[in-house]
Amino acid sequence: MEEPQHSSVQPYLPSDEYRPEPEAKPLPPNWLDGSTRIGIHTSIAGDIRSALDIANNLGANALQIFSASPRMWSRGVGSNAIASSERFRARRAELKLGPLVIHTNYLINLASCQRVLRVRSIQAFHDEIVRAVALGADFLVTHPGSGCGVEMSAAVVAIADGLRHAARGVKLGGLRILLENTAGQGTSVGSRFSELRAILDLCPELPLGVCIDTAHLFAAGHDLRRAEGLERALAEIAGAIGLHRVFVIHVNDSKGALGSHLDRHEHIGHGKIGREGFRRILNHPQLAGRAFILETPIDRPGDDRRNVDALWRLVGEKPRSVRGAADGFAVRRRGARSRGKTSVARRARRKKTSATRRG
Ligand SMILES: [Zn+2]
Ligand SMILES: [Zn+2]
Repeated sequence: MEEPQHSSVQPYLPSDEYRPEPEAKPLPPNWLDGSTRIGIHTSIAGDIRSALDIANNLGANALQIFSASPRMWSRGVGSNAIASSERFRARRAELKLGPLVIHTNYLINLASCQRVLRVRSIQAFHDEIVRAVALGADFLVTHPGSGCGVEMSAAVVAIADGLRHAARGVKLGGLRILLENTAGQGTSVGSRFSELRAILDLCPELPLGVCIDTAHLFAAGHDLRRAEGLERALAEIAGAIGLHRVFVIHVNDSKGALGSHLDRHEHIGHGKIGREGFRRILNHPQLAGRAFILETPIDRPGDDRRNVDALWRLVGEKPRSVRGAADGFAVRRRGARSRGKTSVARRARRKKTSATRRG
């Protein structure tokens, strides 16, 4: 009888093989559930968290905010935004709002040819990124910048270089930086899609994308009043940038005429683009899945609610606003009272600013 063979060599069993657990795929943000996303730029006056409740009460399921005053250089990152970021994230999760878009400060100009201003802009942009990450924002929207009469290519290089410097050393996580198309006023970069593409190409290591503003598009010469105009604009964007790199649409009607290069926003359906133009934009199959964010003025109480309602109606859904809830206008009035008696002149000034809201 043959003795059984003893061997130290074990038969190969595939199940014995060491297989590391596959790395868990990060869960997609809960707002990416295929539902239409309608949002509005909401004031952070007072408490940054109140912006979430205001947007929610207006019937929006997405929002855009500034993370600090948009017309002042903030001193360092430090702001209320960081201090209350945990509670802000928790409230946002409760309200299921998304995406959260942050618009950068208006003073930032990464293409400035004044050295001091450019360095300050890069620092401020860095702080914007840090605050956006702390608040758990999905997108940080910025205007590319304005050169100073020098060649556009020099401004494009300066912007790309500025972006890279600003992002250095920050873990961006899920944050994506979006360059907004401009109306083409003055020496501003970004009214031509090729300029935006050139910046994207110069920063392959950064998670970049594009935000398209309808009022800027119209003022730059794209006739969004007509179906052919919209098709042509989308074909141009697809050819120059790729529609997959467009994540947010700023939905604003335009006070400025077609090709006027005037950056003036108007209520949906009350400007030069008109309601039907927006119906086509909001329901265009090639724009499905984007976040549609309003940056319309608030001239009268309820204007922001009416604009959000209008977008829901244009996509064929019932408006979701809470009647009688505080809106952006109430916030502004509260802000005015806390600064003391409002003079007639100041009220008039404020009215003028609101009527010509840009972004
Ligand atoms: Zn905009
Ligand atoms: Zn903007």
